[in-house]
Amino acid sequence: MKVIAAKKRRFTVALAGNPNCGKTSVFNALTGAKARVGNYPGVTVEKRSARVATDDFDIEYVDLPGVYSLSAITLDESAARNFILHDEPDLVVNIIDAGNLERNLLLTTQLMEMGVRVLLVLNMWDEAEKQGLSVNEEELSRRLRSPIVKTVGHRGIGMKQLRATLSKMLLTSENSHYSSPISYGAVIDREIETIAKSVVATSCNTLPPRWYAVNLLENSVVLEEFANLALVEKADIMSQVAKSRQRIEQVLGQKSEMAVGDGRHEYIRRTINAAIKPGSGDRMAFSNRLDNILTHRFFGYPIFLFFMWLIFQTTFVLGKYPANWIDKGITAFSGLVAALLPTGFLTDLLTHGVIGGVGSVLVFMPNIMILFLGIAVLEDSGYMARAAFIMDRLMRGLGLHGKAFIPMLMGFGCNVPAIMATRTLESQRDRILTILLIPFMSCSARLSVYVLFASAFFAGSAGNVIFALYLLGVLIAVAVGWLLRKTLFTDHDIPFIIEFPPCRRPTFRVGLSHMWERGKVYLHKMGGVILIASVVLWFLGAFPRVNHYSQDYDGQIASLRQSPNPSAADRIAHLRAEKASEDVAYSFVGRLGHVVAPILQPLGFNWQMGVSLVTGFFAKEVVVSSMGVLYQIGDEVDETSTSLVKALRNPAGGVTPLIAFAFLTFVLLYTPCVSVLIAMRREIGARWMAFGVSAQLVLAWVVTFAIYQLGLLIGLG
Ligand code: GDP
Ligand code: MG
Repeated sequence: MKVIAAKKRRFTVALAGNPNCGKTSVFNALTGAKARVGNYPGVTVEKRSARVATDDFDIEYVDLPGVYSLSAITLDESAARNFILHDEPDLVVNIIDAGNLERNLLLTTQLMEMGVRVLLVLNMWDEAEKQGLSVNEEELSRRLRSPIVKTVGHRGIGMKQLRATLSKMLLTSENSHYSSPISYGAVIDREIETIAKSVVATSCNTLPPRWYAVNLLENSVVLEEFANLALVEKADIMSQVAKSRQRIEQVLGQKSEMAVGDGRHEYIRRTINAAIKPGSGDRMAFSNRLDNILTHRFFGYPIFLFFMWLIFQTTFVLGKYPANWIDKGITAFSGLVAALLPTGFLTDLLTHGVIGGVGSVLVFMPNIMILFLGIAVLEDSGYMARAAFIMDRLMRGLGLHGKAFIPMLMGFGCNVPAIMATRTLESQRDRILTILLIPFMSCSARLSVYVLFASAFFAGSAGNVIFALYLLGVLIAVAVGWLLRKTLFTDHDIPFIIEFPPCRRPTFRVGLSHMWERGKVYLHKMGGVILIASVVLWFLGAFPRVNHYSQDYDGQIASLRQSPNPSAADRIAHLRAEKASEDVAYSFVGRLGHVVAPILQPLGFNWQMGVSLVTGFFAKEVVVSSMGVLYQIGDEVDETSTSLVKALRNPAGGVTPLIAFAFLTFVLLYTPCVSVLIAMRREIGARWMAFGVSAQLVLAWVVTFAIYQLGLLIGLG
């Protein structure tokens, strides 16, 4: 037991619980954090922590990934287990879905065996109450040797009592270490005792021996936990285990891991019978009826597509208004700055570089926030888990693993957490495969490019075009996944088990907080990578400057200004454009454009598009900001700058709707951003990352080429 220092009262409190039991909701309510909440298993995969300091305490709360058990089969399970074993939190708050005790208590018994101090939280108490469930708290608390608090996590109910109980526990240091009240029945208990003794006899005495014993019988001790044991000691323990297993199998006629599992379930069942009176109502009754429709083998798919379509349609239609206002505001602001400041280098940098670049991205913030609201509603209501279920059927037909669909769905928000969410997959091959496919899910950053081009070229059906792009991404992911399965990843099948969370009315709080969180991320990006990229790009576009033009543009323009000839204005515009293009061709950007031109010319892209694709490597919003900067290069400062949408539509730029769509396809398919590459490297290594990047670039080129050339053939150019 740790000694509590008299003055510095610093503690670590870990939150552990099954997936989707409301752990993150409680974590948020306790700490005021705004971690992501979602009504399906597998949202929190990385542990997250927040520090709360009051007069008396300084507590670090750690939200562990949701797990059903601590047997360390998946990456999250070992993450949670390692934290509890090695980081030694002072207290583990075990969050339990009160409506699902039988399953949730499995983890609780494992925690008790690990010898950690546990505070039991019966969350989702509102739902349990509605079912008419009643708990004999004293009895439950006695049997599980832990105080009990009832909460409603997402509304913050019960937090006061939770905090109070928590502080009380932290301040009293009653020693409950290594005491295990769990009985597996006489036969097994005796063997556990024997093995525990032989564990204690070794140098491996820092970890609860009983827990070790149980795990050895269940076959789930990871040997690394034995790493510092001498070989002889290991052999001693293992021979004892073998003997015990044999005895158990003889007496009970069952494999020892099964017998231990049964024993534990029996213990849980007895506890529940003694302390809980089940209600009559079934909280799943309404859900079940709804599920019959939502997961119907035929209607399920059109319903899913409809919801998706609705989200993208809403994103565009509703987002258009605020986007327009912001656009107008920025154009006016840029004009104002240009009018107030003297003509010159700095003003140019400010209006064309900074405002042109960052401003063009800011325009799409409303669209992105609406998208996230939509996703939050679908998640919070429990629909996403159903979507994953019906997709499993479809994906299985193609040889893909259904569980992979949840990370892929998350990819619509941002690919980076989606890549991390693959840690819930059991097999490494499934993880690699899924991580390779996630980039095809259109993340919200790509949405800004979609919206820009869709509003410029497909005004009437922008929502549908955007929807089509999302769908195209999914279809390509499915096709590529199928191909990889047939070639690189011929592998066994692991069954897909997803448990449906109950359908819930989505909460306002969750939706708004999700939306705001994403808005903040977007704003941060604008102040960071987008701002830097815009300024750098402006410099690259402005330098080096042309010393000798091929003709005397300024002189000719000046003399034309005097001319009464009505065609003079046209001529001036023409000369200006020519001068600008000479400027550009000479600048660094122009040279870069020149380099990529031969590669991108068969796709119909102009040089601005080519350069934006290069800069877009860093982040997809940078494609938009780059366009914003590039389309202003060569513009005279005193002219009122036009909005990017108009500039794009200008026929002089040579962009047709077909080219625009081809460009969007390219944006959809090639590398999403640098952060994704970093995440890929961390999760599956540099070689797979390199493979992913090159495969995507090739695919992007080929598909775009096909779309453009076919489009030209059938006369869409
Ligand atoms: P986690 O996966 O354990 O982190 O669970 P989350 O905190 O993400 O919550 C899962 C879902 O349950 C979300 O839709 C929450 O809004 C909802 N939820 C959380 N706590 C409660 C509760 O006490 N009562 C009800 N009815 N819903 C809850
Ligand atoms: Mg969570």
